[in-house]
Amino acid sequence: MAMKQFQAESKRLLDLMIHSIYTHQEIFLRELISNASDAIDKLYYRTLSDGDTGLSRDDFAISLIPNKEARTLTIEDNGCGMTEEELENNLGTIAKSGSLNFKKENEPKEDIEIIGQFGVGFYSAFMVADKVTVVSRAYGSDKAWKWESSGVEGYTMEPAERSGNGTTITLQLKANSEENNYDEYLDTYRIRELVRKYSDYIRYPIRMDVEKSRMIEGTDKDADGKYKTPEYETYTENEVLNSMVPLWRKNKNEIKEEEYNQFYKDKFHDFSDPLLVIHSSTEGTATYNALLFIPSQAPYNYYSRDYEKGLQLYSNGVMIMEKCADLLPDYFSFVRGLVDSQDLSLNISREMLQHDRQLKLIEGRLEKKIKSELESLLNHDREKYEQFYRNFGLQLKYGVYADYGMHKDLLQDLLLFYSSSEKKLVTFKEYISRMKEDQKYIYYACGESVDRIDLLPQTEALKEKGYEILYLTDDVDEFALRMMMKVDDKEFRSVSADDLGLETEEEKQEAAKQVEENKDLLAFLKDSLSGKVKAVILSQKLKSHPVCLSTEGAISMEMEKVLNAMPQPEGGEKVQAQRVLEINAKHPVFEKLAKLYADGDKDRVAKYAKLLYDQALLIEGMSIEDPLAFSNDICELMVQ
Ligand code: ADP
Repeated sequence: MAMKQFQAESKRLLDLMIHSIYTHQEIFLRELISNASDAIDKLYYRTLSDGDTGLSRDDFAISLIPNKEARTLTIEDNGCGMTEEELENNLGTIAKSGSLNFKKENEPKEDIEIIGQFGVGFYSAFMVADKVTVVSRAYGSDKAWKWESSGVEGYTMEPAERSGNGTTITLQLKANSEENNYDEYLDTYRIRELVRKYSDYIRYPIRMDVEKSRMIEGTDKDADGKYKTPEYETYTENEVLNSMVPLWRKNKNEIKEEEYNQFYKDKFHDFSDPLLVIHSSTEGTATYNALLFIPSQAPYNYYSRDYEKGLQLYSNGVMIMEKCADLLPDYFSFVRGLVDSQDLSLNISREMLQHDRQLKLIEGRLEKKIKSELESLLNHDREKYEQFYRNFGLQLKYGVYADYGMHKDLLQDLLLFYSSSEKKLVTFKEYISRMKEDQKYIYYACGESVDRIDLLPQTEALKEKGYEILYLTDDVDEFALRMMMKVDDKEFRSVSADDLGLETEEEKQEAAKQVEENKDLLAFLKDSLSGKVKAVILSQKLKSHPVCLSTEGAISMEMEKVLNAMPQPEGGEKVQAQRVLEINAKHPVFEKLAKLYADGDKDRVAKYAKLLYDQALLIEGMSIEDPLAFSNDICELMVQ
């Protein structure tokens, strides 16, 4: 019989398959099953449209037949089958469907990627088999044909026998090697596992004869009716391996919470039930089903580089990608789950997938859906939302800050911060609804913890006025707020900003007068701090405390801390906030300073200036430059 040559590109792909020490070789089964399912689909719809009612859905099946002696695995379907010409065209040429964009200049490494992520259909059989035999009979034809190939040399065609339409593919498994045990594909248990993993939701039954054992009836009792060790017999059961209906395609109303939870735990290997289940189906420009979960706990590696975001991607019930990152924006990277699209081609390369319009559309929809579900949780189950927020709120805040604030409008309603007056987490909306009539800004204060912030002297005047302050305890918080700039036209203002916008015109004039009177003293204080502060001013925000620090310009003290804690490029300069030392003119300490200055005791004024500055640093949670000098100065005061 004449050997026919494969088309050049097919040859190349085939060569790749044969020689791949490929870790995902198990997907060959998925590929062959999905081809079988397609073939049945084709026939089913053809008979439907022909009005031929001779066939019903129940007549169709895919069979798997492992044969341990012969070391063959057979995949059989009763779908449309192939004519002689179709066999030649479909299996002698790759990418008939034009789906595999196989570029010649591709590096071999990338080729492997393509196989791993998307499979390449029929040829993947050569990853596990060294000979593949296809016997097929087209629907409506009475002739069958056999196609056979042992690799790149080519293939043969000859007439064959087959009862009924459909295709039978027999894989002669490769010999086992050190790295590969191909016998596993003959093992009932392993085959069942693979079907459940990749093809559970194929809509036709995938059948296999499975050997089982059962008690022979009546053998558990003796003649007197006493129990005895029973006898067993083995029998063969034709088992359906797949569940056929995926959970996500079922009607929401028919699914119990427990089913969702179990599904989530099984599929995503979590011990706890999910915090939130989002099940949505859409039709129209993008037809898909999505089943999404928000875990109740952040995975241990969530905030590390190891964490990989992504959703499982199915095309018509067949899994094509384990983690499709393109389906989730970074700020929702905590979402797990899957998307089953009706519009994606199965054999699509990763590169193409990235540019796939359909996928982009789905991502956009999912993003909106996730946001609205979170919002609804926030509004209807605050406790649960706060649990979510404790785990993933940080990610949302990074999201606000990332990409130059592009996503702030989407995310701002989902943020919570601790409120000085409510003593709990509040939203911006809630804050704004409580703002006083004359209140210009949304105030915030930064620090290590709520307790520490609560003690900050800068908050005194605001609290006295009854203004609410948001407490920011995460590093990213202030950066996120600065990126947002405002919410509903209300600007943010740090309690450490030089101007809190509190004074009336009168008060401002009064203050200006006071500054004028103490001009020399303030200048002297600034000089004695030798460049450490941009200015020394009389504070309007202090009530009972003598000093505090504030900042001028774009960088706050908190941002200085965070930025300097980050890894610096070599020779990179440290960031410095422009510090302003604020002194409470109503405090006895100030009176003392003024008196000493008037008396000409400049040495002491200078020393006190340093002490006050150090105190202000300590209150901010910053370290002081010379703790020893600080301690000595205090001791000196103590013994006076
Ligand atoms: P794809 O599935 O992307 O088209 P394949 O290489 O897997 O690529 O298959 C090539 C073609 O061979 C299919 O498009 C189909 O027409 C045909 N084919 C493969 N398997 C079967 C089958 N079991 N029954 C009928 N036709 C099949």
